[in-house]
Amino acid sequence: MDKINLKGMTIKEIKDFIEQNKEKSFRAEQIFEWICKGVSNFDLMTNLPKDLRLMLKQKAYIGELQIVKKKADRDKTVKYLFLLEDKNVVESVFMKYGYGNSVCLSSQVGCKMGCVFCASTIGGCIRNLKKWEIFDQLIQIQNDLGEKHRITHLVIMGSGEPLENYNEVIGALRLIHEGKNISFRRMTLSTCGIIPGIERLARENLPITLSVSLHAPTDELRNRLMPINKIYPISPLIKACKYYINITKRRITFEYALIKGINDSPKEARLLAKILKNLLCHVNLININPVKERGFEQPDKKSVQTFKKILEKEGINVTLRRKLGIGIDAGCGQLRRRYLD
Ligand code: SF4
Repeated sequence: MDKINLKGMTIKEIKDFIEQNKEKSFRAEQIFEWICKGVSNFDLMTNLPKDLRLMLKQKAYIGELQIVKKKADRDKTVKYLFLLEDKNVVESVFMKYGYGNSVCLSSQVGCKMGCVFCASTIGGCIRNLKKWEIFDQLIQIQNDLGEKHRITHLVIMGSGEPLENYNEVIGALRLIHEGKNISFRRMTLSTCGIIPGIERLARENLPITLSVSLHAPTDELRNRLMPINKIYPISPLIKACKYYINITKRRITFEYALIKGINDSPKEARLLAKILKNLLCHVNLININPVKERGFEQPDKKSVQTFKKILEKEGINVTLRRKLGIGIDAGCGQLRRRYLD
């Protein structure tokens, strides 16, 4: 008989499992607490009776990702590469901000979306991550760094398109909320613009932040940078974003990675302002992490400031994302690439 993996189960699901095995249901909360603390050995669950531990050892296990690489940068960004049970690898990043500590988690092994500035997509999408594998990235990082670096925020912005793995991602967010006490308002899900997923998320009734990677103000340019635009072009995408805002009353973040000579001119800034005018939104300008394989460079400081000012003049809320971990391959998918090369 195959053992059942308890990591990834809610308290209610663990309750059902132990009740079926004639154990008292209140034990489920204790087991869940141990799992969330990163304990995977039943013998260490000292508040459980011996018989229960024995039953658990016979019928269940607690899955764990293994840290195979860890790189820390001077700005206290820490990048992790995790080995999965099937020998695939995914990466996650820990970042320190003024408002707290955040982790960036992966949702798939690789990605099939083909964004040209992204290293994660180079080998395509291998598979979706299970909700426990998404949850465990956070557990392992928290355990590795200790409570002194308590994780307060998270973004699903590592490798993968989260809305292509909808159920597992939403399941993981609910588990993290239940098990690690991180409020939904401190969670961000980043998409390249999967319209049906955005509409579904609008109806999910989860007060998380939606972040949409736009990166270009015209279909012609966006088709070149993000092939998903051929399926979900800008106009219907913005319509879906309006639907999301109407239902959730929440502000959307638009990500715009500035690439030298490609999408960073004042003309593009004006076009972007036109698209986003009067939308309840925020624009995050990102100085792109150079991707060796693609030959993209960062724009100079002056063009970044000009771009920002044009948006601000049109009343659009803009921030320039603090560039973290550039020295440690913190661009999406880059550590994994180096490991695979
Ligand atoms: S940027 Fe995101 S959606 Fe685009 S290829 Fe990379 S991981 Fe996929």
